[in-house]
Amino acid sequence: MNTTTRRRYRPKSLLSRELCGGPQADKLDELLIRNWSYKDYRNAGMGMSQEKLRVIIAGAGIAGLSAAIALRRLPYIDVELFEQATELREIGASIALSPNGLRSLEKLGVLNALDDDTAFRGPSGVPMIYRHWKTNEVIHQEYFADVRLRRHETARFHRGHLHAALLEHVPSDLIHLDKMVASADASQHGVTLHFADGTSAKGDVLIGADGIHSKVRKSFVPNHQLVSTGKVFLRSTFDASLVADIPNLPLDSAHWLGPNENFFASRLGKGQYTTVGNFDVPVSADGRVKDGQWNAEENVDVLRERYKDWNPVVKALVDATPYTRIYPNYAGKPLSTWVFESRATLVGDAAHTHGGAFAAGGSLALDDAYALFLAFQHVLGSSRTQKPETEELNTSLKLYDETRRPHTEKLLEIILKGIGAQTTNTDWEEGLLKRVRNKPNMTWLSEHDVERTFQGVIQKDSPGSKL
Ligand SMILES: Cc1cc2nc3c(=O)[nH]c(=O)nc-3n(C[C@H](O)[C@H](O)[C@H](O)COP(=O)(O)OP(=O)(O)OC[C@H]3O[C@@H](n4cnc5c(N)ncnc54)[C@H](O)[C@@H]3O)c2cc1C
Repeated sequence: MNTTTRRRYRPKSLLSRELCGGPQADKLDELLIRNWSYKDYRNAGMGMSQEKLRVIIAGAGIAGLSAAIALRRLPYIDVELFEQATELREIGASIALSPNGLRSLEKLGVLNALDDDTAFRGPSGVPMIYRHWKTNEVIHQEYFADVRLRRHETARFHRGHLHAALLEHVPSDLIHLDKMVASADASQHGVTLHFADGTSAKGDVLIGADGIHSKVRKSFVPNHQLVSTGKVFLRSTFDASLVADIPNLPLDSAHWLGPNENFFASRLGKGQYTTVGNFDVPVSADGRVKDGQWNAEENVDVLRERYKDWNPVVKALVDATPYTRIYPNYAGKPLSTWVFESRATLVGDAAHTHGGAFAAGGSLALDDAYALFLAFQHVLGSSRTQKPETEELNTSLKLYDETRRPHTEKLLEIILKGIGAQTTNTDWEEGLLKRVRNKPNMTWLSEHDVERTFQGVIQKDSPGSKL
């Protein structure tokens, strides 16, 4: 069903808050949250008791929260999230969302994340600008293929701000903190999360949104391995006033490409700024980075030393950076299925272990969430009073898998092929120019239309027969 052309339920003309009052007004809020049409409202038989589908989500990061927001639009679904952290806050790093992710955010109704206070969009409207490490000249630019609205242009956020914007759409009593998932299991009858504190939670459907080192994925695909991409990232976010006086500081976000290192810097929403240095590091035989602990504090002099011979703008940026933290980068092979025992699936980095390459992970997670909503809505309907059968859940999750897995598999193949590919260049200036000349066009990723892909899948596969 095309949700954009459906007649939306309009509270002012059809059912005003004054007319409803009391509990009815609460129902009205629920209708608005769920974005129902008037037909959905009548068909649901408001007030009728129903046994709801209980979806349990491991992890309350960007993928977990957006999956919760997406599924809460369906009135027959109850969602609960289980997060290992004792308080909800994101690490001090930036995140970019490309047009695909921003469009999904909009369709999910998270409009508060799109405004220019929370998200930074460069004044030029050019999403990717590459500069020479020594001369600071622009050596390459990438443009949008088909982005007509400013709010869909690539945006850079402090991760905490994006996370907070999503949290506004998930009631806090649905998120259980200090719940570290140790393992998960599923059968034809239900799903269970087992926590490190010895407790457990049961549900009808399980969504593993517990990041690249997912315990949910480990439970269903125990042999899946992550390997280092050979890169580490030194990331920092801080108040933009610290760089305000740097001469010639570009107004747009910029990637500086160097012989063996790259450097990224950008304004973020709410007056923040980010610097990110990334470079190759030795990888041991077991495929891991020696001494590279995730999110550990690193001596900021390591960053300054790395970039000391670069152009004056980058040098001034690293000198102004007050602290830095280290993130070794990992990736893993594509999975052969995202559906386990008809009732469990994965979203975000747990599903596609791409390690943040092409700054695509946040947007992919949002597209995953929206695809999950489309699949459930298509198979189970916009409203119902009967709890779905196992076979219906299986069909929904397979539809989601078919919409998302081939797309992310294409990305993973590019990333895995690239590991170690650019390390042994002796003529680095020539190597740098070659890298720029050979940069693949990635708009298939950054402007991916998840809804169109979904429509293609349902046209190809008739649910219930082939799926
Ligand atoms: C430093 C950094 C910078 C990045 N920069 C970009 C960028 O610029 N652009 C971009 O698109 N992507 C970027 N990414 C990737 C992007 O953030 C992710 O792809 C995206 O946020 C989706 O993540 P996720 O929710 O699947 O996983 P995560 O963000 O890792 O969230 C997983 C959540 O699950 C919780 N969790 C983990 N294990 C357990 C457990 N056992 N039990 C319970 N809870 C658990 C975690 O605490 C966390 O809250 C970056 C990632 C990092 C870490």
